[in-house]
Amino acid sequence: MPIDATEPYDPNNVFAKILRGEIPSKRVYEDEFAIAFHDINPHAPTHLLVIPTGPYVSWDDFSANASDAEIAGFVRAVGAVAREAGAVEPGYRLLANVGLNSGQEVPHLHVHVFAGKPLGPMLA
Ligand code: 5GP
Repeated sequence: MPIDATEPYDPNNVFAKILRGEIPSKRVYEDEFAIAFHDINPHAPTHLLVIPTGPYVSWDDFSANASDAEIAGFVRAVGAVAREAGAVEPGYRLLANVGLNSGQEVPHLHVHVFAGKPLGPMLA
């Protein structure tokens, strides 16, 4: 079910539980500002999710309310995850769904990293 990205942060969402280690994930990256793990239902040979360690519902919430240090740390972490996945060449795609029209399902900001095959054109 898509979520309303204007709702308050729910500390019991599934990615909050993954962040706290309460449910398992295949974690590939971790620092002060972000963790990354494999998507449970991959849509590409490499499909990773990068999430901030802070409690932000969506990109909208994060870009409006996170500190400059959190934003810089998270953006650098997304880059590091793609580099560590060996995705920089021949390339990768980033995607962040926000709210009902996008189909966002988990109410903790996540950036999808898709790689490992030609990804084709982005279709609306
Ligand atoms: P959204 O549609 O919100 O942008 O993407 C949510 C993503 O989270 C989906 O690609 C889905 O497969 C993934 N996902 C949902 N629940 C879990 C989970 O418990 N573990 C992992 N690793 N991924 C999940």
